[in-house]
Amino acid sequence: MQTLSELNCHIEACQQCEELAQTRNRVVPGEGDEKAQIVFVGEAPGFHEDQQGRPFVGPAGQFLDSLLSSIGLRRSDVYICNVIKCRPPGNRDPLPVEIKNCQKWLDLQLEAISPRMIVTLGRYSLAKFFPGETIGKVHGKERKRDNIVFFPMYHPAAALHQQSLRQTIEEDIKKIPAILARSENVEAESKPQQLSMF
Ligand code: URA
Repeated sequence: MQTLSELNCHIEACQQCEELAQTRNRVVPGEGDEKAQIVFVGEAPGFHEDQQGRPFVGPAGQFLDSLLSSIGLRRSDVYICNVIKCRPPGNRDPLPVEIKNCQKWLDLQLEAISPRMIVTLGRYSLAKFFPGETIGKVHGKERKRDNIVFFPMYHPAAALHQQSLRQTIEEDIKKIPAILARSENVEAESKPQQLSMF
């Protein structure tokens, strides 16, 4: 298996979506701890991310930083990436074909990181893992699949446009430490006890 840095070099060279490859300034593979326990998956880079080649560095990113710090985490403690690695021009919604083309990159990133928990931010990220589900119904509720805990949240940008969602997002993120601790305990309990020979 290739390392995450090797993989991200391939992502940066991707030309599969002709329009995105022509209009982007920078590809935004993701950043953070390559062995993070928690991966946050957003939608797609916006203007600032496209300029800097880093995820969540604009206003939504500043809010994400404050959400992380509310549970004692820094960006470098987690991994942050997106469903789509290039900015759709004019911040339009990603096209189904772009999501499909980019799918393998996120899958390979998650395989390389092997996180305990995936936090989906917004509806595109939720749809990648749970197609057909509605963010309004499932946000803030964890579920386990393939030994990974999934935790859907509203997108931080939603709180910037809709003040009423701010409190919901702030409350949802506060659940993460306890969920993570529970999943660690379950794993420790399910490990067979080592028999001491002495
Ligand atoms: N919104 C996203 O979904 N991702 C980013 O990286 C920035 C804004």
